[in-house]
Amino acid sequence: MRTVNAYAATSATEPLVPITIERREVGPKDVLIEIAYAGICHSDIHTVRGEWGPITYPQVVGHEIVGFVREVGSAVTRHRVGDRVGVGCESGSCGECEQCLKGEEVYCLKGNLQTYNGLDPLDGSITQGGYSQAIVVDEDFVLKVPESLDLARVAPLLCAGVTLYSPLKHWKAGPGTKVAVIGMGGLGHVGVKLAHALGAEVTVLSRTLAKQQDGLDLGADHYYATEDPATFEKLAGAFDLILNTVSAGLDYSAYVDLLAVDGTLVILGAPTEPVQVDAMSLIASRRSIAGSANGGIPVTQEMLDFCAEHHILPETELIEASSINEAYERVLASDVRYRFVIDATTIA
Ligand code: NAP
Ligand code: ZN
Repeated sequence: MRTVNAYAATSATEPLVPITIERREVGPKDVLIEIAYAGICHSDIHTVRGEWGPITYPQVVGHEIVGFVREVGSAVTRHRVGDRVGVGCESGSCGECEQCLKGEEVYCLKGNLQTYNGLDPLDGSITQGGYSQAIVVDEDFVLKVPESLDLARVAPLLCAGVTLYSPLKHWKAGPGTKVAVIGMGGLGHVGVKLAHALGAEVTVLSRTLAKQQDGLDLGADHYYATEDPATFEKLAGAFDLILNTVSAGLDYSAYVDLLAVDGTLVILGAPTEPVQVDAMSLIASRRSIAGSANGGIPVTQEMLDFCAEHHILPETELIEASSINEAYERVLASDVRYRFVIDATTIA
């Protein structure tokens, strides 16, 4: 075991505090990563505040992790000491089921191992995530970070990036398709860049026009405020694919009405309220409503390589670990442009 410094939640209501945690010894297939940067995802906040159900404290969250390989196990073949690598939302899966064999580890039929707040089958411990100095991960769940991507900005691709890239590919966004992104936060802003790079016609649906210029600069073709009822009249039937990244409940039927015939609304944002949709809106135009989780390892690597090729990086604000709690409040107030990234050297 090795002891590392981290920032943890100790209850659903108190601020995160510095603690020390234990990392397991490097096993034959393990990689020890010195963490350089960790992104703050809204899922971290849902989790530590118990919004997705009770959790075990103390809990170190963070599943947008990048850093350097510092040690490899005796059977490791994919990574070498010194490599720039990343870890996302999953750190393990059964490896044998139909989904794992397809490279869709995130949909493992036996349940994947979450990078944090997961039950580690190796020793029955609760996994602890990226707001820490180092992590030990099975080499198969470690991604290669292309050299050309600025390490200080790349971390959010490990969750936000693949969470948008995976449905864009699955529902075949590209030239000739009209894609809308609801919510321009951490996920949404990366979705705009990715959909644009894939060649789709991209529309942002944000609550107000406050971020309009940013949206257009990031690659959106159109930008509308959803606080204006005229938006819903004007855009009725307009989109082949709508990606919902909103962290709160929505009037989903109003957005289903913006789908073209055969269009799909994909739910990515994960509030606790149930999704309710008017049946007739779906039936009348053979529309679908779907969900999508971040992505398996192959699509995550494909996304990183795509971002290197297309020079795509998230818009980030680098913070010291002592500012995590303030950053949480700013995420909740949608006052983030567009992802906070923790400099892990400040986790002391
Ligand atoms: P975020 O940075 O806070 O962005 C969420 C955006 O939603 C905000 O920027 C805001 O956009 C909009 N929004 C917030 N509150 C709203 C409200 N009450 N009504 C309408 N719009 C509202 O969060 P994030 O990190 O992108 O995560 C978004 C959601 O995705 C979270 O629920 C997170 O847990 C979930 N998530 C899911 C997956 C997955 O695998 N499916 C992966 C990662 C995250 P505007 O200001 O532009 O309106
Ligand atoms: Zn996330």
